[in-house]
Amino acid sequence: MNDNRYSGASEAELGFLKDIVKLLPTGLTVQDAQGELLLANDTAASQLGMDGRRPLPDLAQRRDACQRALATGHAVVTEEALHDGASRQVLLTTHRPVRLGGRDLLISTSADITEQKNFEDQLFRSAYFDELTGLPSRRVIEHRANTLLARDGKVERFALAFLDVDNFKHINDYYGHAVGDALLVELSKRLGRDLRDSDMLSRISGDEFLLLLSPIQSQEEVADFMQSTLERLTAPFFIDNSEVFASTSVGVSLYPDHGRNFETLRQNADIAMYRIKNSGKGSAAFFDASMEREALARMKIEQSLRLAILEKRFCCAFQSKVDIRTQAVKGIEALVRLRDDEGVIQAPGSFINLAGELGLIDELTHLVLAEIVKSIDLINDTFGPEASISINVAAKQAGNPEFMRTFAQALEETGFPQRFMIEVTEDAFVAKSHFQSEILPMFRKLGVGISIDDFGTGYSSLSALADITADEIKIDRSFIIDIHKRPRSQGILRAIESLSEALGMTVIAEGLESYEELAYLQAATKIRYAQGYYFSRPIFLEELKLATPASSEARANVASRPTQQNRKGYSRANGYRR
Ligand code: C2E
Ligand code: MG
Ligand code: MG
Repeated sequence: MNDNRYSGASEAELGFLKDIVKLLPTGLTVQDAQGELLLANDTAASQLGMDGRRPLPDLAQRRDACQRALATGHAVVTEEALHDGASRQVLLTTHRPVRLGGRDLLISTSADITEQKNFEDQLFRSAYFDELTGLPSRRVIEHRANTLLARDGKVERFALAFLDVDNFKHINDYYGHAVGDALLVELSKRLGRDLRDSDMLSRISGDEFLLLLSPIQSQEEVADFMQSTLERLTAPFFIDNSEVFASTSVGVSLYPDHGRNFETLRQNADIAMYRIKNSGKGSAAFFDASMEREALARMKIEQSLRLAILEKRFCCAFQSKVDIRTQAVKGIEALVRLRDDEGVIQAPGSFINLAGELGLIDELTHLVLAEIVKSIDLINDTFGPEASISINVAAKQAGNPEFMRTFAQALEETGFPQRFMIEVTEDAFVAKSHFQSEILPMFRKLGVGISIDDFGTGYSSLSALADITADEIKIDRSFIIDIHKRPRSQGILRAIESLSEALGMTVIAEGLESYEELAYLQAATKIRYAQGYYFSRPIFLEELKLATPASSEARANVASRPTQQNRKGYSRANGYRR
């Protein structure tokens, strides 16, 4: 009975074990020393194509590994890739020689590591290839260039082109990031179209591409090629039901003419590209030595700007916004000035964009606010305690919630946030950013006014005004110049005026310089406010204090038209250059 029970249990146990082996998720095979297959579970049968459900894998590699394991008596581990059409399965297989019941056998187990392998591949690809466009990364193109440079003996000439999409930020802001991304993909396709196998196109950051052309015969050949490439890029892109126009600026450096290593060639191509950016965009230029001097000069300006910020060598000039009927000062605008290394006062035209590019503008805006707070008593004495105080905020800043939050907080901390207005250009409103929906309400809550600066010069149209919530609209100087003689501008002015009235926005004419312009506004429009040299140039408070003791008389002086003499006095005393 005992025997019976034992053998019955053993049989059941054996069957149980067989079933487990059969259903194991890991492939398992057992072979004898001659390679005769004694056992293969279901997973192994499927992996090896024995169930006929997929093509047989290449078994030569496996046979070789088995023989090695048997010959050495040590386990052999291999990675096997099994392909079935487009799909791939990767197995990690261990062949382990064992001696069982006096026989030499080989037990092989195969674990499926496809997912892990795919993940590794993805990591590899993201290190060497750009995810969006699939183009090689900067590392790869650098490696290719270095391989060319390391060739013994004669190194062939090659060209390195630095390409940068013009106004890509605008496109991104205006159409949104999805369209921006799609544009980069389409652009990279057009760029890559006529390349030879020995050329390489790489995306090195956001909207920047590097193109390696190798080998090349002459500069002319490269110039022709770049020309036709650029022409191809100017045709419109159809993305997401929009017709998007883009142009690209290109700088090219040649090996060995413009550098003997990758970094120098890249830098010089970048310098040439920068020259194109500043002179109209949308074309290509080869590097030359004069550009290097320019780049050095620019670096010097950059350095001195950084230093000026560090040393807080900034001050504010204030210009009044005047009620053209009563001559009363409605408010003032703070205009930042930089005292350069030689003590000369510079207007923002020479540094504000650069400050934006260098990421210094946020700090600058905080400095302007600090200067206003410091001088608030003098401001009140000069312009009256009711005058609003406007601060300019660049569109780039306006679209940056982080900065705007800190700035709103700083305005609140002054204790008189309702005195302030922020002036932003219309670009900030039309951008698909959160400016209108999230950032503006924050300022509204504090009682800070919103003004649209330089209206009529940006991307928006009159119809876009209807969607903008602002308190004030400043009509750009270009419409005001000689307004009395320009019927077209008069028509535009009337349209802006009536629309603004309907939307409850105050209109201000910017850059009013002459009596004739003023007379036209007074006679032919309902515009109440103006700002311009006719009433007052931007002035420095300290100098005003020195010139006239604070009094209501001083207030009236600032508002009303300055005499020829004191007008000159301001410019000389300020060292203000226009
Ligand atoms: P804006 O905000 O449109 O300021 C008006 C500019 O026109 C000022 O130039 C002012 O001096 C000038 N202006 C005023 N009246 C007249 C006039 O009758 N005729 C002429 N020809 N010009 C007049 P400014 O001070 O050189 O500033 C230029 C621009 O720099 C400003 O234009 C503003 O966009 C920017 N800016 C000034 N300060 C700051 C600042 O603190 N932050 C930022 N982000 N931008 C600033
Ligand atoms: Mg302004
Ligand atoms: Mg303006």
